[in-house]
Order: sequence, then structure tokens, then C-alpha cells
Amino acid sequence: MGIGRIAIVGTGHAGVQAAASLRQDGFEGELFLIGEETDLPYHKPPLSKTFLKDDVPQLQLLRPEDFYARNRVELLSGRCVSAIDPAGKRLEFTHGGVLSFDRLVLATGARPRLPAVPGTDLEGVLALRNRADGLALRAALPAAGDVVVVGGGFIGMELASTFAALGRSVAVLEAAPRILGRAVSPLISDHLADRAVASGIRILTGTGLAAIAGEAGRVRRITTGDGQSLPAQLVVIGIGVEPNVELAAAAGLAFSNGIAVDAAFRTSAPDIYAVGDVASYEHWLAGRVLRLESVQNATDQARSAAAHLLGRPAPFRAVPWFWSDQGDARLQMVGLAYDPDRDVVRGDPQSGAFSVFRYRGDRLLSIETVNRPSDHMLGRKLLAAGIAPPIAMVRDAGADLRSLLEGEPKTSARAAVVSS
Ligand code: FAD
Repeated sequence: MGIGRIAIVGTGHAGVQAAASLRQDGFEGELFLIGEETDLPYHKPPLSKTFLKDDVPQLQLLRPEDFYARNRVELLSGRCVSAIDPAGKRLEFTHGGVLSFDRLVLATGARPRLPAVPGTDLEGVLALRNRADGLALRAALPAAGDVVVVGGGFIGMELASTFAALGRSVAVLEAAPRILGRAVSPLISDHLADRAVASGIRILTGTGLAAIAGEAGRVRRITTGDGQSLPAQLVVIGIGVEPNVELAAAAGLAFSNGIAVDAAFRTSAPDIYAVGDVASYEHWLAGRVLRLESVQNATDQARSAAAHLLGRPAPFRAVPWFWSDQGDARLQMVGLAYDPDRDVVRGDPQSGAFSVFRYRGDRLLSIETVNRPSDHMLGRKLLAAGIAPPIAMVRDAGADLRSLLEGEPKTSARAAVVSS
């Protein structure tokens, strides 16, 4: 029997791409795209980059305004789904009403994790995930000369550089020995930390947040785990996210760190799929179960899930990539560096533009680049083709790594941000 109606929950990168791909792949039935946010679906990455700096905050829409009507996508904005009945194939809305479906795609994303310390409820303690959070940060900035960013991950370091560029005194607390420690090589961590310090940011590693103190309900100071006291009129929490699994969990779907899906992005319930930040799956490249948080992952998974859902399975072989803008450094990463045993540098870190090729044995795991977009684009092709450049060649700045791709079929390396 044909599929009459597909419902998608979540209007982020994954949900919107799933809707677009379903139509592109020829789905002719009813298509509902449901999201609790009231804005037209928009790009999240600019929130920690340009959104706080622009005179007038601009949302970059994921699709033009008329995309939804043109593609017969019933966009239900400002609607929160409160329950799913997998057996009855119905979902319920928080403020009443139900919707039946033949297939359901869960693209509910993730939300910032908050530390279990006193004071997180004070005014001026914020986290960033969506436009409303971005507007709250903008509103808090005029009265905030001293900003403490808790967490030296991507969002924390991007925000720190944005605040420093806006003339604020900024301190970053990172509990691990180095910033971005779980994501990048020590060399890149150190390089980005040096750049941040040179721009006036204070970085405190090896210590976390112990308490936040305020006066008259507003934040005034924080205390670090090792007893330092720092002034703060704004505290931004950036210690990672938690996947929004509650809907799936309450419906009895399998989950652990994310909603568990198979290679076709099917959950443990028949006819229910999950994609994007919320989905946990065995990654073909890493050979382990993981959950990725990136625009590329969300859009590529959504494309693949749409094909599977319509009975046109294609093996998921997307190579993960990511970018982060910190001051005048653009970091780009491709691949997944689990258990690397050798980091090889190409280019001169002192010049501010270089790459780190990470290997396990002879296998190339990932390439991290700072202000070297051509190495990044090349890296996408090398990893897609399973080619590991010899280490001597990587070190030799004059060696043409592109020659390694000769004879390989052309791969389409997509633009960094996918839109319309
Ligand atoms: P989301 O974008 O989180 O969308 C999920 C949507 O589902 C949300 O709108 C949520 O409100 C909605 N929802 C949840 N539950 C319900 C419900 N019950 N009912 C209705 N709606 C619901 N990635 C990069 O690759 N590069 C970057 O530079 C980068 N920078 C970032 C900067 C910031 C500030 C943030 C927050 C993220 C950044 N990311 C970046 C990560 C990237 O934005 C995410 O990986 C991506 O948004 C994941 O898309 P998603 O659709 O899975 O989830």
C-alpha cells in the first residue's frame, strides 16, 4: 500500500531537509512539518557567529519563505508534539489535537545541558540553541562588561571570540586540560587557544564552574572549582547538549545517547525514523555507535532517510565534516579521529594557516585545517575515496596531494551550508 501521509517533528536542519528530499524523491502524499519554534526554519550556526554582532539580528532562512507552499509542505510552526502512539500511528500536540501518520520522522535535535550548580536560575545566566536564546544574549550584552563562558567547546569558543570582538572582558572555563579537547588534535587546540588569548580572552583550563552568585536575582560573580572568584554580569553555558529523546522514550522506542536507529535511520518502531542531532547510529567510518552534532550530518542523514523511507535505499557513506569560526580563524574538520596515533602537520602554524592530518597506523582518520579551505576540500575527497596520503608527502609543502585523486571518480563536495 502507498504512503498517504508523512509527519516530520522538528523544523531544524534535519527536519527541513527530510521534507525537501521527500518531495525531490517524488513523494506525492501529504507532508506535515511540525516545529515548536515560531520562526520560519533558519540556520543555527550563525547564532554564535554573526547574529550577536549584526546591528539588526538577521535570521538566515533554511529555505525561501514560499518553499513550503510551493512544495506542498504543511508547515505547522509553534506546535509542540507531546506524545506519539507508534501502534495507533498518531501524534498528539501539547495544546490539543492529534495527527495520524503512515510514516513519522523524528528530527527533534538537542538542547543545551546545564551544570548542576547553584545559581543557574539567575538573570544573566544563559545558554544558546535557538533564536530566542540569541535574542536574550543580545539583550544581556549592553549591561555585561565581564562575561564568563562555561565550556571551551565549539560554541563556547565561538561565543568567547564574538564577545571579545564586541569589547567585553571574557573568561572561558574549561574543565579539561585543553579547549576543544574531545574534538581536535592538541596542536589545533593550542593554536586556537593562543589566538584567543592574543585577542584578550582569558582561558582557565582544568577547572570547572562551582557556583554562580548574584544580587537581586541577577548574576554578579562565579566561583571556579579551584576556588577563584570572577566577576560576571553575563554567564553563558556551553558544556554540550542533550538529545531531545523524551518523545521517543515515552513511546517505548529504543534510545541511549540519542534515539537508536539502524543503517536506514529506522527506529525500533516500524515506520518511525530519526535523523540529525537526536539520532544515534553505528557510523560506517568510525565502526562504532555515535551521535554527531553538525549541519552536514543532519542534512545528509535526512537525505538518506528520505530515500530509505520511499523504498529507494542507498548505503549511507557521507564523510562527516564540520566548521567553526573563531575570530579570524576558520577551523574545518573532515573525518572522525577515533584513537589516532600520529598527527602530521602540513603548512606552518606560525603563518596562521595549516592543517593536521590524523592517522591510525597507515589509515587517514581526519584532517583539521585552519584557514586552509583547499586542504579541507581535498580531504573530503581523499576520505570519500579511502585514500591515505603517504606521510612524507603530507609534510612536503610542495607535494601535490591532488595527484593522489587522479583516476578516482569525481565526488561532489557540497558547499558548507546547504540551502534552498
Ligand atoms: P535542531 O536544529 O536542534 O532542530 C530540532 C528542532 O526540533 C528544534 O527547532 C526544536 O525546537 C524542535 N523540536 C524538538 N522537540 C520538539 C517537539 N516535541 N515538538 C515540536 N518541535 C520540537 N554545526 C556545524 O556543522 N557548524 C557550525 O558552525 C555550527 N555552529 C552551531 C552554533 C550554534 C549556536 C548551535 C546551536 C549549533 C551549531 N551547529 C553547528 C550544530 C548544528 O546547528 C546542529 O547540528 C543542527 O542544528 C542539527 O539539526 P537538527 O535538525 O538535528 O536539530
